[in-house]
Amino acid sequence: MSQLTIALTKGRILIETLPLLAAAGIEPAEDISKSRKLAFDTNLPHVKLLVLRGSDVPTYVQFGAADMGVSGKDMLLEHGGDGLYSLVDLGIARCKLMTAAIKGQPEKVGRIKVATKYVNVARRFYAEQGRQADFIKLYGAMELAPIMGLADEIVDIVDTGNTLRANGLESKIEIADISSRLIANKASMKMKHSLMQPIIDSISSTVNASV
Ligand code: AMP
Repeated sequence: MSQLTIALTKGRILIETLPLLAAAGIEPAEDISKSRKLAFDTNLPHVKLLVLRGSDVPTYVQFGAADMGVSGKDMLLEHGGDGLYSLVDLGIARCKLMTAAIKGQPEKVGRIKVATKYVNVARRFYAEQGRQADFIKLYGAMELAPIMGLADEIVDIVDTGNTLRANGLESKIEIADISSRLIANKASMKMKHSLMQPIIDSISSTVNASV
């Protein structure tokens, strides 16, 4: 039987993904949270799980290093989606991708600086808005950038808004509603259809039953 590799996003998405996989009959052979391993066997001899940074999941799936994956929509928008299908909205890890700036400050006119880890998404968005902007790639702590004068605005994930508030910022414009998606490599969908379709169906029905 051919092997099936599923790339998961570590952190809060992983915690919400494991029950969906369990409902589809897939359980890691050991406790992922207690291990430093990056690849895990499961109760099914032909299924392996990878635990990756969110930004790497679409890349693994695009190039077929993983057949399927669970990825935040934010990461898919930033990646662009080449080589993969987005199959199921899992409805987990919901949040919004937003612009934000220092609270109460009037919008800066003319060319602005935007700090974000979502440079591709931000570039498209500000172009659509007809606003001229330069983009500064950061890997974390985006909320600090406006306060320290590194940027006028940021583009970041907002859930409760507590992180923005705690750093003197306010959200401005919503760019996209985010949740995690089940994705698949396009070639794997053809070659391993009989292995993948039951898993996709099972995860879809669990998700639909919980809406
Ligand atoms: P909050 O303070 O609740 O608005 O959460 C803000 C921070 O938590 C963001 O800067 C993100 O880094 C992270 N975060 C919140 N929700 C998610 C999510 N669904 N996926 C990834 N990161 C998230």
